[in-house]
Amino acid sequence: MYIICWRRKKTLFVIFFLPRPKQRKRKTQGCAGSLNLNWNNLRGMDNEKKRSASFSKGLLQSGELYQYVLETNVYPREPELLKELRDMTATHPRAIMATAPDAGQLIAMLLKLTNAKRTIEVGVFTGYSLLLTAFTIPEDGKIVAIDMNREAYEIGLPVIRKAGVENKIEFIESEALPVLDQLLEDIRMKYFKILPGNENGFDFAFIDADKINYWKYHERLMKLVKVGGIVVYDNTLWAGSVAMPEECTPEILREGRERTLEFNKLLAADPLVEISLAPLGDGITIVCTELFIQSLNHFKHVCGGSLFNYCISQGIMKLNKESQRPPFSFKCLVLGFRLLLV
Ligand code: SAH
Ligand code: CA
Repeated sequence: MYIICWRRKKTLFVIFFLPRPKQRKRKTQGCAGSLNLNWNNLRGMDNEKKRSASFSKGLLQSGELYQYVLETNVYPREPELLKELRDMTATHPRAIMATAPDAGQLIAMLLKLTNAKRTIEVGVFTGYSLLLTAFTIPEDGKIVAIDMNREAYEIGLPVIRKAGVENKIEFIESEALPVLDQLLEDIRMKYFKILPGNENGFDFAFIDADKINYWKYHERLMKLVKVGGIVVYDNTLWAGSVAMPEECTPEILREGRERTLEFNKLLAADPLVEISLAPLGDGITIVCTELFIQSLNHFKHVCGGSLFNYCISQGIMKLNKESQRPPFSFKCLVLGFRLLLV
């Protein structure tokens, strides 16, 4: 502040010069460029440009780097028909939803590593990840593929037929939650021998649908997927917005960002699973069910009759001397456990 004073005759003149108040830093400063948010690159682009901007799915520092990964490692190994499906999908107004090919490559590897035969797919769209899975699982493998909208699936279907893998796919047009509940019910029924068949469980699941239900899907999948099985969740970095302040996040991403943040937090706090968030595509979280099953080991083994052996070995129960059979009370105990499992 400056003050200038002077006196003229009997009057004192004073002038104050106040400096301009410093502009407060806006909270949103630093939004732009704080993340290589590829969504921004896409807004306003026409479909043609979106198609060519396939780097838009990558979360790497530069589009060129992502392009390098795709061109050197992914595209040369991508089956011809999968590429055809990808190209067909590229003209779809919602092409951005299709699974990124680099994420797909890791999914295929996980399917192979786990020898997956029976899988679940939630969110089919035109079928990129579905065809990839169908190519990877064995001839007698099965995929339960769920999507509430068959229209997009119809686009990819001719390619799936051409690939000769339609027989591995059971497409169900429905909201996913009731189907997962029904699958659980079927497994229980098979366990009690009410329905024929003894397949109890899936080896693998890929979840790529509405983020709002991810945790509900997770709860069901932990019961549907067998010991050592794998569940992969797509879009767990939500275009990079999970690391942005809310006010910097484009409106269109905000709800998904909230849901994804919630889901990632819950998953990270779950001591019963092993997780790894791989920054491929739009982020995929790989969840291994092993620890979950270990913690439920006793319950699991009830189904296989191992509770009996366990009780004998631990001295909890003795066999009837004459008949060498477990006493009636033990059978009631097993039945009780089984009912608890339902
Ligand atoms: N995995 C696909 C992309 C899936 S896009 C691919 O590789 O191309 C998401 C899909 O989830 C959409 O087709 C949408 O119809 C479906 N979807 C969204 N909410 C759903 C719900 N509640 N139940 C079932 N499907 C749903
Ligand atoms: Ca996706």
